Amino acid sequence: MGTFLAILCFALVIVLIQNPHNQKETEQNNYTPDSQIKYHLYKGKEFSFNKEELHFVCTKYNPYYAALKQTNQDFFLNRLEDFIKQKDYYIVGGDAYREMPILISAAAIQISFGLREYLCPYFSNIIIHPQEYIGYDPLRILIGNVQGDSITLSWKHFFEDYQKADGKNVGLHEMAHALQVQYLFNTHRYNRRNEFRTDFEFYDKIDDDVLHSEKLKTDSLFDSNALSDPNEFWATSVELFFERPQELSIRHPRLYKSIVLVLNQDPSEGGLFK
Ligand SMILES: [Zn+2]
Repeated sequence: MGTFLAILCFALVIVLIQNPHNQKETEQNNYTPDSQIKYHLYKGKEFSFNKEELHFVCTKYNPYYAALKQTNQDFFLNRLEDFIKQKDYYIVGGDAYREMPILISAAAIQISFGLREYLCPYFSNIIIHPQEYIGYDPLRILIGNVQGDSITLSWKHFFEDYQKADGKNVGLHEMAHALQVQYLFNTHRYNRRNEFRTDFEFYDKIDDDVLHSEKLKTDSLFDSNALSDPNEFWATSVELFFERPQELSIRHPRLYKSIVLVLNQDPSEGGLFK
């Protein structure tokens, strides 16, 4: 019996690890932390960051920000301050660092830097776990997910992914899902026309063909999670767009150009705006 349970647990863990990202959900669901979980709550509007501190942290740990011209860095920091003020940060576990809200919010500013709207108002909460965490319904192990009005990330994975440009970036991945939820899946709440929603049609005409062609390759840029679902394919395309832009633009120029249109920025050019 003990052996059987051990095998069952092992099989369950394998299944959970194979699908690390949760897909978007569109239900509004205010975050109520489990009373058993120890966490720090930082309300963004009560944070006191000065521009020098934001600049220091972003320069040190966010290569995208570090490469911006100074005028764009000023613009970035203004947006970052506004974004932080709008969110509540639940930091799970004993260690809470000021870099956590700054850098996770900076990922949201990075992906939306070419767009007029950058506050993602649908999402009120950012939940930060020290490492992998358990997601429920269905039960699985996660490193990031978007659910209800919360964006949740494993700090360990978020931080490590920003330190190397290998095409993996869970922060950008979850922010890409957040944009879908905000502008594509909540048309009943945000029903006016929006540049992201309008330009997403360019991407939407191309992604199916690329996804199917990548499924046939042995050296795909995309992992099995990305190839399993169109929403995962979008979020992974965004990771590659920022982390391996030359490779993505050479292998899939039409897909790459469609993301340039959707996000209104072009990392492969070294410049940010089309
Ligand atoms: Zn995902």
